[in-house]
Amino acid sequence: MSLALLLLGTSASRPTVERNVSSIALVREGETMLFDCGEGTQRQMMRYGVSFSLSDIFFTHFHADHVIGVIGLMRTMALQGRTDALRLWGPKGAGRHLKRAEQFGVDRLTFPVEIQELDHHERVARKDFAIVPFAVEHGPGPAMGYALVEDDRKGRFDPEHARSLGIPEGPLWGRIHRGEEVTLPDGRVVQPSELVGPRRAGRTVVITGDTRPCESTVEAARGADLLVHEATFGDEEAERAVETGHSTAREAAIVAKRAGCRRLLLSHFSARYSRDAAELEAQARAEFPDVTIGKDGMQIEVAYQ
Ligand SMILES: [Zn+2]
Ligand SMILES: [Zn+2]
Repeated sequence: MSLALLLLGTSASRPTVERNVSSIALVREGETMLFDCGEGTQRQMMRYGVSFSLSDIFFTHFHADHVIGVIGLMRTMALQGRTDALRLWGPKGAGRHLKRAEQFGVDRLTFPVEIQELDHHERVARKDFAIVPFAVEHGPGPAMGYALVEDDRKGRFDPEHARSLGIPEGPLWGRIHRGEEVTLPDGRVVQPSELVGPRRAGRTVVITGDTRPCESTVEAARGADLLVHEATFGDEEAERAVETGHSTAREAAIVAKRAGCRRLLLSHFSARYSRDAAELEAQARAEFPDVTIGKDGMQIEVAYQ
């Protein structure tokens, strides 16, 4: 199962020459989901080859730099003659905020828009994974992060042992791997536990949206394969991060360390930082080794552990 994350915008508040405002595409086995949709996201999707035939956009909160791109995106989808429903998910207030966005395209939308408000921990279940929202701390308005959590996978099948037991390769292997007890032509009964190892964990990718460092992110990101955390500021702006409900790169790295994540990807940088945000990388790396500074167009494959 392929799973890749693509950063469509990595700038906080306003775009810069190199960085657009927030949006992330997660592509799992051909299915695309967007997380936030700042102004200009549709053009970033074209530039980086993200499919418009997606069905779900998850919003972390309703600040303009995370939302207003959905108006243009829906217009383009209508011009393309889309008929499939588009589902827009977000925290409390989603109905009110996103209805306005939809109304810009009124009379012209060719497809239904379904707006769904989510509570924290209200799982959006899909075949073999779920999107799980969690509370974050970003000022007075409602805001949430999202975790993509895959179901456990089947255990590993031992082909050598199967051969040594004289079980012919073919449909019998598949049945045993799926957990069925199988009777061989000679009458022997094979239990799946003889040939199949314990179930293996699926992958977890966590996206915080805008937030102060918080316990709920540490919980959601416990052992995660990839944590995408905002890092609006550097150390010298630590007070401003508190005032505005954002995080410093160092604070994001401490969250990753406490959660025991495998990898940390930083995004949502204030426009004051240099093109490669090298100063933020150094501050984060002092706390957590596996840090990547996000760039527009950066794609990260998430492998099984
Ligand atoms: Zn923001
Ligand atoms: Zn915000």
